[in-house]
Amino acid sequence: MAKSPEVKLAVFGRAGVGKSALVVRFLTKRFIWEYDPTLESTYRHQASIDDEMVSMEILDTAGQEDLPQKEGHMRWGDGFVLVYDITDRGSFEEVAPLRGLLEEVKRPKHAPLVLVGNKADLEHARQVATEEGERLAADMACAFYECSACADHVGTGGGVAEAFYELCREVRRR
Ligand code: GDP
Ligand code: MG
Repeated sequence: MAKSPEVKLAVFGRAGVGKSALVVRFLTKRFIWEYDPTLESTYRHQASIDDEMVSMEILDTAGQEDLPQKEGHMRWGDGFVLVYDITDRGSFEEVAPLRGLLEEVKRPKHAPLVLVGNKADLEHARQVATEEGERLAADMACAFYECSACADHVGTGGGVAEAFYELCREVRRR
């Protein structure tokens, strides 16, 4: 296997969309119901992506930072997971402004990112159609995943890892 580059990934999105649950799901393949929503953590993880070892540093933001903190996190990161909750339209509407800020901070480059619609297991409470997510991702020229951090929801959990892997690929392509 080839060298082991470090990729810095930051996870953004309104408080409560499931950022911590997604990160922990990705790292441990488990779902843990409750996290301190004010907590910000970084994790290290290694994975073989397309036969290459990639070391990641993952920043799970709290989602309630002020502007200077947000900008600091954006400067730090190489790639970004923008998360909304499919049962919370407001969280979806916060994605475009986040992307706008990202573009400002990273100018003149375009920051590699992926869009994740989380809580896909809560279909009955859905407020954001899959097509809306797809359209937003097309506007932002990024990959889109609807997934669920919820372990019991068979069939969607795999999307979580794929979103992170795709983001790593996108970062490495630059
Ligand atoms: P964060 O503030 O974005 O980090 O959100 P958390 O990870 O703390 O999750 C907020 C709440 O949503 C918690 O009660 C989680 O158990 C719940 N949650 C997170 N992801 C999912 C999911 O995919 N499905 C469901 N049903 N609940 C989720
Ligand atoms: Mg959290």
